Amino acid sequence: MRIKTTLFAVVLGLSGVALLFALPGAAQTPATPALVRIDLTGTDDLARVAALNVPVYAYLTTPGADYLLAILAPDQQKNIAALGLSQTILDSDATGVSYYLLESDGGRSGASVTTAASLFAFLHDDGRHAVGRLRSGIAIASLDALDVRFIPLLDPIVLVAPTTGAIPTTPPYDPLVADLLTRVTTETVYGYDGGLSGEWPISVGGAPYVLTTRYTYSGVPIAKATQYVYEHLESLGYAAYYHNYTLSGHSLRNVIGEKQGLVHPEQIVLLTAHLDSRAATTPHNPAPGADDNASGSAALLIAADLLAGLDFDYTVRLVFFTGEEQGMYGSLYYATDAAAAGDDIIGVLNLDMIAWDAEYGPDIDLHSNAPGTVDDSDALADLVAAVIDVYDLDLILQIVENGTRFSDHSRFWDRGYAAILGIEDHFNPSEVAAEPRDWNTNYHTVNDKLSTLNLNYFREYARAAIAAFIHLAGPLREISGTVMSAVYLPLVMHQ
Ligand SMILES: [Zn+2]
Repeated sequence: MRIKTTLFAVVLGLSGVALLFALPGAAQTPATPALVRIDLTGTDDLARVAALNVPVYAYLTTPGADYLLAILAPDQQKNIAALGLSQTILDSDATGVSYYLLESDGGRSGASVTTAASLFAFLHDDGRHAVGRLRSGIAIASLDALDVRFIPLLDPIVLVAPTTGAIPTTPPYDPLVADLLTRVTTETVYGYDGGLSGEWPISVGGAPYVLTTRYTYSGVPIAKATQYVYEHLESLGYAAYYHNYTLSGHSLRNVIGEKQGLVHPEQIVLLTAHLDSRAATTPHNPAPGADDNASGSAALLIAADLLAGLDFDYTVRLVFFTGEEQGMYGSLYYATDAAAAGDDIIGVLNLDMIAWDAEYGPDIDLHSNAPGTVDDSDALADLVAAVIDVYDLDLILQIVENGTRFSDHSRFWDRGYAAILGIEDHFNPSEVAAEPRDWNTNYHTVNDKLSTLNLNYFREYARAAIAAFIHLAGPLREISGTVMSAVYLPLVMHQ
């Protein structure tokens, strides 16, 4: 492994000046809640705000400042002030308002939040994130025309998550894991990605079907895509099930394959990817999405094949989300329901775009949670770093400690779960000039096709993710008929 660098939150601190578009706060009636920015200054500020139990909707980091977005009544604002924290009113009346977080700097030419001005009134822009108030009469589905990434701020988030220490950060070399990785080849990644991205028919319900799109609102195609994944998981012996939700009048579903843990079945590890795709404009067909995100989905299908013969300490879930391109709705509802059910998820490894590599070597980005957050997300990144080293994978690792929120992993952060995003050299607002981004020029177009992918890079990335996930799940051995958790002994395959 070649470790190039580790980025911290404040690499570029040129100005640190937030651009505030807020109007002066209008006079408030006593109970009127306002959208408020709360600036954080010390390491214990998160815990102090959390102790007030006020509704916070986002925790954002920029090169210059860390802050929270909260909707606060005047008395709650007084409580924040009593902590000595400064706050800015971004919108004086939050009653009945829908707020969205938009990616202000995606590192992409042409993408600008200004293109969304007809849909949103912008309240704030820190150079990385913009906050918009949805204009009245705008339907969620119409946001699909935007060439910017956005997240609806729907529910208060968990500010302080527990540190469990359950994530192994120094996995030992395991010969069977190494052997399993030899079964992840350029042919396997090519095969699964081509089927998902419509290069040839796949078998769904026993009949051939060509997935020309996996657009969330496509109707039959996305139903076929989810059915294909479901059938694949079920055929391998996983407990396969759908997680249903409704968005903009569409009945949608995520797909899950689960294998019960044998030692700690109540503790759960997730390997996730979004299955849906989009193109630049409606009707989003074709929308091959070979990199975004047939690549991550292919890695999960391969993981399903390899893990099918193993038993684990923890319960394993392979989760395929839909609705990601509409604002990470599938993962929003999944993570919300998991938290409501009390699911003890100890780690989420989310893969989104792992097959594009054109320049500057095989860089990968691992996006972890904000530096002020002490949780197991950093340990997950360390685990992936370790397996790249242990299994000598040809990848150049970069850990982004103030990672992007614009993929499904952040929905788990918001519910207090440890999670990371594995992505190519893609989103990185803190990237220094000496390490330019390696941008997928076909992103969200009809040209995001199998033929453009770097198959060696794709194979290595899939190997890293699968190896990390096996070690995370706690592979079990059978010794003298006794099932035991023994990380330091070789694995045996269950036939
Ligand atoms: Zn994606």
